[in-house]
Amino acid sequence: MEDYPRTILELEERFRTEESCREYLARLRWPDGFVCPRCQAKDAWPATRGRLVCRVCRYQASVTAGTIFQDTHKPLRLWFRAIWQITSQKNGASAVAVQQVLGLGSYQTAWTWLHKLRRAMVRPGRDRLRGRVEVDETQVGTEKTDSAEDRPQRVLVVLAVEEDGRGAGRIRMARIPEATRAALHAFVQQVIEPGSVVHTDGLLAYRGLDRLGYEHEVSVLQGQEKDTAGKLLPRIHLVASLLKRWLLGTHQGAVSPRHLDYYLDEYTFRFNRRTSRSRGKLFYRLLQQAVQVYPAPYKTIVGGKDACCADHNL
Ligand SMILES: [Zn+2]
Repeated sequence: MEDYPRTILELEERFRTEESCREYLARLRWPDGFVCPRCQAKDAWPATRGRLVCRVCRYQASVTAGTIFQDTHKPLRLWFRAIWQITSQKNGASAVAVQQVLGLGSYQTAWTWLHKLRRAMVRPGRDRLRGRVEVDETQVGTEKTDSAEDRPQRVLVVLAVEEDGRGAGRIRMARIPEATRAALHAFVQQVIEPGSVVHTDGLLAYRGLDRLGYEHEVSVLQGQEKDTAGKLLPRIHLVASLLKRWLLGTHQGAVSPRHLDYYLDEYTFRFNRRTSRSRGKLFYRLLQQAVQVYPAPYKTIVGGKDACCADHNL
């Protein structure tokens, strides 16, 4: 049963105490009741600070251990409000905005929280796209680097967008070093179900998809007008321009190339749920995934690498 607050008032009333937050997390983490991580026993008694003690092996389990909330020094109430802030707004929120609204002492805390939450936006083992899927690459600008030229870097992103009537269905995207056959074919295989129709432009690197079990449909540009690119793969064109606008707007382009993958994850999470009737449902989904994702310590986040091998947006 999906049970979540629908309005900010419901959120405030429901999660007034640490206890209420922990209870909610426990239900998301152990939907069929507690299971001891050590001996698999299903019987435990509650101890202080929200811990559970296994009746069989006396293992002390905490609902936050092994999740992105592990070792946090801040109240869960604050985390819940940060999650509400980024899931209830159409475009999410920047670290600066989260810091200000929650009154967090440091920008670094807000920044780290957002990155931890982005890691929870990828559901492990999620389905691949299917049906008719447009695939194309686009250049995304990121923040300035310290190089002598001091120019914003351009990063290559490959996108896949399901066709849904005249509109767009679900999306997937990933950063790739170059538009090589190896990179593009690997992306298609990771994000699209074999048997689907993959619709691309005439780039030679896409050739051979039919040998990988896909039906490959190629559309080639007619004429030299710039506008025709949008008509060729209209859904890709739409998603790419919304993505760029989001990076420039909400994050003011201040995304470094090595962290871009996680921003792509956030964008994908929100786009794929854009028709959700209640924003509370996004809050619920994100918390549900947050208690299933291995924690990422600050050091690994700064390094742009994960402790585990999260497959970003794939
Ligand atoms: Zn046990």
